Amino acid sequence: MSNSRPTVSLTAPLPPGSVIGMLGGGQLGRMAAQAAAAMGYHCHVFCPEQNSPAAEVARDNTVAAYDDWDALAAFAGAVDVVTYEFENVPSETAAFLLERKAVHPGPNVLHICQNRLREKDFCNSIDIPTTRYAEVNSFESLERVVRDMGRPCVLKTTEMGYDGKGQSFIRQDSDLTEVWEKVTGGKEGIQTIVEAVVDFRMEISVIVARSLNGACQTYIPVENQHKNHILDRTIVPARISDKLLERAEAIARRMADKLELMGMLAIEMFVTTDDEILVNEMAPRPHNSGHWTMDGCVTSQFEQFMRAVAGVPLGSVERHSDVVMTNLLGHDVDDWHAILSDPNNKLHLYGKAEAKPGRKMGHVNRIIPRGEG
Ligand code: AMP
Repeated sequence: MSNSRPTVSLTAPLPPGSVIGMLGGGQLGRMAAQAAAAMGYHCHVFCPEQNSPAAEVARDNTVAAYDDWDALAAFAGAVDVVTYEFENVPSETAAFLLERKAVHPGPNVLHICQNRLREKDFCNSIDIPTTRYAEVNSFESLERVVRDMGRPCVLKTTEMGYDGKGQSFIRQDSDLTEVWEKVTGGKEGIQTIVEAVVDFRMEISVIVARSLNGACQTYIPVENQHKNHILDRTIVPARISDKLLERAEAIARRMADKLELMGMLAIEMFVTTDDEILVNEMAPRPHNSGHWTMDGCVTSQFEQFMRAVAGVPLGSVERHSDVVMTNLLGHDVDDWHAILSDPNNKLHLYGKAEAKPGRKMGHVNRIIPRGEG
């Protein structure tokens, strides 16, 4: 691939009727495509899987591998802007598309968000605190870093980890050989990171959108509760002081500005027992912890995402209701009738055929009108 061709970026708002290209066909792409259609845009989904959740609701669909250059060239030719609903877009794929069409959020954001070390380095470079961390590339360096940092700490792969996959806590009695084997699968050359374990009282997240002219909107910080490392519930708003709410939003805005983001960024943070806020990780797309906005906010995160990527003015992030969002994993979805029996529940299903254990099948937003909380 040549590096001589310039990359493209969007310079004017896309009018209704334009086509938004979406890499990835999961539930985030599905809900974004639904929001795009409501605004008169068309979505063209590109993903390797047949019958993806997003393809069911998008106008156009290409089923091809992310290294199928002919299919990618045709896709680039058929859309007005490219975005993605997952951050692990292969860098060659992003580079290939960038030579042909605007990709938002841009390559700098994708590059940082694909790697935990780069995320933390970026945060620290702009004076946003994280937990202490160190790169580890061999078992010998793991032993040294753990000795220096002290236990407990946590070893994670720097790339491709999600929902607790690719990570292992190192407690006082943990056997480092086993931890190394578990995280790297015994493979050579896997980059990992060791992080000091944070003594947190709450996990929160903030979602920020930034559009063409630098206009920026942040949703109120929310409180995230996990089960087996997978998000279980999001409580809106997070039960922290106004000062901490403001600080978390300011961090998100600063990150979006420094990245010159065009699109959406979700930032997961820890609130420590000392009321410090530390950034844990970030994702350049809508986020599971933002699903509450579909029923609790003037503008849902999916509409906001589409607005930001299309370069049109952002919508109001005003919250009209408090919400508790619960994920429906695997056979939780069998309770659909009971869920619908409460008129304050809003059920969202992703159209997935098979309810495998741990698979995100849908979510329910329980609406608590403001003033009744
Ligand atoms: P992550 O994949 O980084 O989001 O980690 C998954 C979950 O593991 C987080 O939501 C936390 O509950 C926990 N966790 C990850 N890293 C740390 C850390 N450095 N200190 C304490 N808990 C952590």
